[in-house]
Amino acid sequence: MKIIRYQDTSGNIGHAALQADGTGLKLTGDIYGSPHVTQEKAEVARLLAPVVPTNILCIGLNYRRHAQESGVAAPERPVLFVKGNNTLQHPGAPILLPRHMRSDEVDYECELAVVIGRACKNVSRERALDYVLGYTCCNDVSARDWQIRLGGGQWCRGKFFDTFAPLGPCLVTTDEIPNPNALRISTVLNGEIMQDWNTNDMIFDVPALIEFLSGSTTLLPGTVILTGTPHGVGMARKPPRWLRPGDVVTIEIGGIGALTNPVHEETP
Ligand code: ZN
Repeated sequence: MKIIRYQDTSGNIGHAALQADGTGLKLTGDIYGSPHVTQEKAEVARLLAPVVPTNILCIGLNYRRHAQESGVAAPERPVLFVKGNNTLQHPGAPILLPRHMRSDEVDYECELAVVIGRACKNVSRERALDYVLGYTCCNDVSARDWQIRLGGGQWCRGKFFDTFAPLGPCLVTTDEIPNPNALRISTVLNGEIMQDWNTNDMIFDVPALIEFLSGSTTLLPGTVILTGTPHGVGMARKPPRWLRPGDVVTIEIGGIGALTNPVHEETP
């Protein structure tokens, strides 16, 4: 099932099951429990990020060729950082280039996002996918100046600005994606392909990430795991290609769909 979250014309927020013709049928019940698909059409006025995360756990340098283009060795263990819930942005809504705390090096990163469906802790890789509700697309927007030079050695400052985690357009449940490490993943910027690779290049695959992240650590339902980005980021281009006002960025993953966001400047 492809699940969307939406606002209707009265401002009510709900979930719906996306149909092949692009319409949605309203869902009742908890998406983390036993959601039921009704026959009632959803009046979608605005598409929202498919889940409100309880946590956003992010993995850095998780694709072999991206580690190479970043000039670093492949890590021995997954590299964990976090994004705050303030970073969440909806499909179609703008990515804001920071202007009060200025960044001139804002970059895109296409990522497969894993949504945990059931609380889990100390999970083996063999059982890891049993706890996944589904998958969606994320753009792990990154201010490289604050991430690398101005952040005191921590990546979080540059990854934590408002609107820096567009998510969507829909959540695809695991029955439709039995193997999350066999998906085409790409970034298209103003119609030009910037990243185009496959999730089979992850250094630590999705089961390995869940095993690692759940070690002595509870993963709550609604935890979103960003699994890293392949090569082709703007930072590694010669010259670098930073996001500019007026740009339109699309993250697309096979079997999930396309997440498109315009780029605006923050109004101070
Ligand atoms: Zn990333």
